[in-house]
Amino acid sequence: MNLSAGNQKMTTGVEQTAAIIVGAGPAGLSTAASFHQLSIPYTLLEREDCVASLFNKKSFDRFHLHLPKRFCQLAHMPFPAKFPTFVPRIDLLKYLDDYASRFDIKPKFGNLVKHAKYDEDRKMWRVETKMIGGDRSVAEEVRCYEGRYLVVATGENTEPFVPEVDGLSGFKGEVIHSTEYKSGKKYENKNVLVVGSGNSGMEIAHDLSEYGAKTSIIVRSPIHIISKWSVTIGLLLLKIWSLRFVDSLLVWSSKLMYGDITKYGMQRPKEGPFFIKVRDNKYPVIDMGAFKNIKSGKIQVLPALKSIKDGDEVVFENGKCYQFDAIIFATGFRRSTQLWLEGNDCFLNKDGTPKPMYPNHWKGENGFYCAGLAGTGLIGAAMDAQKIAQDICNQISK
Ligand SMILES: Cc1cc2nc3c(=O)[nH]c(=O)nc-3n(C[C@H](O)[C@H](O)[C@H](O)COP(=O)(O)OP(=O)(O)OC[C@H]3O[C@@H](n4cnc5c(N)ncnc54)[C@H](O)[C@@H]3O)c2cc1C
Repeated sequence: MNLSAGNQKMTTGVEQTAAIIVGAGPAGLSTAASFHQLSIPYTLLEREDCVASLFNKKSFDRFHLHLPKRFCQLAHMPFPAKFPTFVPRIDLLKYLDDYASRFDIKPKFGNLVKHAKYDEDRKMWRVETKMIGGDRSVAEEVRCYEGRYLVVATGENTEPFVPEVDGLSGFKGEVIHSTEYKSGKKYENKNVLVVGSGNSGMEIAHDLSEYGAKTSIIVRSPIHIISKWSVTIGLLLLKIWSLRFVDSLLVWSSKLMYGDITKYGMQRPKEGPFFIKVRDNKYPVIDMGAFKNIKSGKIQVLPALKSIKDGDEVVFENGKCYQFDAIIFATGFRRSTQLWLEGNDCFLNKDGTPKPMYPNHWKGENGFYCAGLAGTGLIGAAMDAQKIAQDICNQISK
């Protein structure tokens, strides 16, 4: 053990294992379960104090999975038959807890990975973590882990992102990111602006309006709004028909169901929803109820935000101004793996996405793997996990 009082850092001894998994979200849990099934020793590092923190701590009460449960299950364990097709948050959390128990998954919580590097001479990955939580007045504790294999499962939703907005720092009301939003209850009769019209933004706007908040949402770019059942059928049809044909069916069904959306201040993109998902990794909006409230005027659609003035007035690109009590930024996330993973720029892009295209995105050099980074959702992460475990097992048993 090495204690350096000068910079208040304390490094404890190195812990060795066969494989190190970073991130105990669904991808990391699927990987741990797959390792368990093949008896591969591993250490699972997680910065938070619970598994699947995105669903545990950073989702709102009304949250449901957008896709049917058969497209969202983790590796080796389907959702219970009694669960509804679109699994609500409370059931999802139960499933994740049961999952961890069933596969004896015990993450090392409070371990924020700060640095990882491959040691060419020793043919080992060395991972350094900073312990978070606990008593912050004592020296910062750094822990070291070493393993022949490294699996990055830190997700696509790592760091909440809020864009720079002129005048935002002077806004007198509440400003939060969607990850801090729990329920619309406390916003009844308040003027609330949701910035961002992806799935989170739309669902939060829906929740707010159901609780009686005077809700507005910024819809800046063209969007596909599709019912959850149309998406389900679309996903199944993709197995037999071309993406182009399925896309045209989805657009047709969306037009039939939602009609001319320009009446409500929105536009559809020229390209189809699955095409955009593959090209830009951008999901269509799966309607969980927001559209009927847009149609009835309970949710007002506004154009892009320009600036904020006088503490509570938001100026929009069409020149109009409105006052708001709260602004909720549903403006997504940034990945951060590239910030702590040294020397793997041949595998990861600057934004943390894998350079090799699907289906070759999961395996790098020197025992490096990633699970759940290819934009293929929960089912894609489960498939990555199983491939990684099998690949490592093949190497170990050679
Ligand atoms: C509102 C919403 C609805 C969604 N609905 C669906 C759906 O219906 N179906 C679907 O397939 N997908 C859905 N998704 C996407 C789904 O959430 C992701 O596919 C899933 O969370 C990916 O799991 P993951 O393990 O890759 O990442 P995450 O769930 O983000 O887990 C990553 C973990 O890594 C940890 N971590 C990050 N950095 C570090 C570090 N440096 N050190 C230690 N730990 C670290 C994080 O704390 C986190 O626990 C939805 C997402 C959102 C936001």
